[in-house]
Amino acid sequence: MRRVTEKSAVKARANGAHRGKVNSDGRRGARGKHSGAPRVTLIPGDGVGPEVIASAVKVIEAVGIKIDWDQQLAGAIALRRFGSPVPDQLIDSLNSTKVALKGPLETRVGEGYRSINVYLRKLFDLYANVRPVRTQAGVHTPFSGVDLIVIRENTEDLYAGIEHQVAPGVVESVKIITARASTRIARFAFEYARTNHRRLVTAIHKANIMKLSDGLFLKCAQRVARDYHDIEYKEQIVDAACMRLVIDPQAFDVLLLENLYGDIVSDLCAGLVGGLGFVPGANYGRHGAIFETVHGTAPDIAGRGIANPLAAIKTGALLLDYLGHGRAGDRIRAAVDAVLRAGRVVTPDIGGKAGTADMTAAVIRALK
Ligand code: NAD
Repeated sequence: MRRVTEKSAVKARANGAHRGKVNSDGRRGARGKHSGAPRVTLIPGDGVGPEVIASAVKVIEAVGIKIDWDQQLAGAIALRRFGSPVPDQLIDSLNSTKVALKGPLETRVGEGYRSINVYLRKLFDLYANVRPVRTQAGVHTPFSGVDLIVIRENTEDLYAGIEHQVAPGVVESVKIITARASTRIARFAFEYARTNHRRLVTAIHKANIMKLSDGLFLKCAQRVARDYHDIEYKEQIVDAACMRLVIDPQAFDVLLLENLYGDIVSDLCAGLVGGLGFVPGANYGRHGAIFETVHGTAPDIAGRGIANPLAAIKTGALLLDYLGHGRAGDRIRAAVDAVLRAGRVVTPDIGGKAGTADMTAAVIRALK
């Protein structure tokens, strides 16, 4: 196997995150033993996860791409079934396939096991979280023409999970920022911007307060920016950036963020285009990728058959891009656009009455 340099791997990921231009270096997963189809770990997840992941799988089948799915449990359902939210067989599968389509996993607030999402991203060093957010014709929001790429560092920051009680009533949570992780995510963002003909990268920070940690993140971004004269580079303090995003989202293009700001700002950006039901996501590393929606388990609507499946379906399209089936990914995106434009078969989150299954069937009918 050819050696994958950091730069070529970053480029492959950045390519793979868009329109199927996947460099062969970017794909190192297993093939099915008999079919020759790529082998992909399928994690239905918790809450609405199984409902929307089933939709994504159906649409991938309907577009004619064969995948050898290796279904595995994780999260709350795995804890109940196997006594662990990350069973060994899940890790074995990911080690073998190096690529997964994953539903959301439940993480309890203020108690219980640590986030399995964060654990998997760190375990497989999936350092770049990419979330394309754009206005969809047919979905009514106060904004039009939103077209943003949120790129979030996935492996450190306050998500390092280092917390302890110093004394009763006093706790400490440690924020880790390293030059290595900051530099590679900045390079990923600029490579993504260049490959995908984007004009601007904005690094979002709070270096006026966290002068050392966010200051280091910014210094790394500035150093990387010097290698990309064709891409404009700006910086903005996170609170001001949030205000600007909801007043003038067109002022942004590619957003480069640390882990926590990236988590918060990507939901904000989803809100700009009508909610979490549309926004796909991917976590890329040098040796693999996990594709997952931005939304969580949506416990308030789980099991009712009304979850919007489009985020999962579009996440499936990103998976196809990564596997080198960019044309199939484009066909899925076009079908999603057509269903939304028509506006007849849509779920309640965007004002319709259709269920998850009806909307999935509408996307399949719209495939050309
Ligand atoms: P959430 O994204 O699950 O839900 C927020 C709101 O958006 C809810 O009102 C929900 O009904 C709505 N929503 C989400 N997805 C939708 C869809 N497909 N169609 C229609 N409406 C949808 O966020 P939350 O309630 O803060 O989190 C619930 C659980 O999910 C928590 O345990 C959290 O840790 C977990 N979570 C997991 C991931 C992940 O696995 N990557 C991401 C975010 C949250």
